[in-house]
Amino acid sequence: MSAHRRFLPEVNPPPARSRRFVLTARSPWVRAGRSGIHGRGLYARTAIPAETRIIQYGGEIIDKAESARREEARVKRLARGGDGSVYVFILNQRFDLDGRVRGNVSRLLNHSCAPNCRAQNIRGRIWIVSEREIARGEELTIDYGYAFSDWRNNPCRCGTPACPGYIVNEGQRWRLRRLLARAPSHDTNTDAPAEPDQI
Ligand SMILES: [Zn+2]
Repeated sequence: MSAHRRFLPEVNPPPARSRRFVLTARSPWVRAGRSGIHGRGLYARTAIPAETRIIQYGGEIIDKAESARREEARVKRLARGGDGSVYVFILNQRFDLDGRVRGNVSRLLNHSCAPNCRAQNIRGRIWIVSEREIARGEELTIDYGYAFSDWRNNPCRCGTPACPGYIVNEGQRWRLRRLLARAPSHDTNTDAPAEPDQI
């Protein structure tokens, strides 16, 4: 497949013929559990000090073309009532990291509009770092930071006072609030009927 040609030099190079960089490392800080926000989530197994590197985000390194193709497929899945979860991180201008990989527990991290962790790109690796001290049993969350243009596809159920009802990066939430205030009964299902994925 010509969509996967090169890899980030900073990231562990995969075998020459493989396009996958898959990390399934465990972290002593976390456990998985059912989430009130969405599906399953990650929880603090013990109290976690602020600024702790909790877990490295694993997944498959893909270029922007492949990333766009997967996003299109995701939106179609979502329109059909399927799993619309997003597990893709932007690594740099050329590559993304797709966490939708078997055994990758870090993909369970949910979004919150008032998160207790952040995703930090440290020399080409995505680390989940605590923003503050986290109590044992708290769900770990990050801000997915989605683009404003995608808001309809990403409803948010974080339930925090900061939440506008959709996942949009913090700097753009005021725009969404303004939009929703103008048209409170917006229709989120205006897209064309979904077609089968071309996979
Ligand atoms: Zn929210």
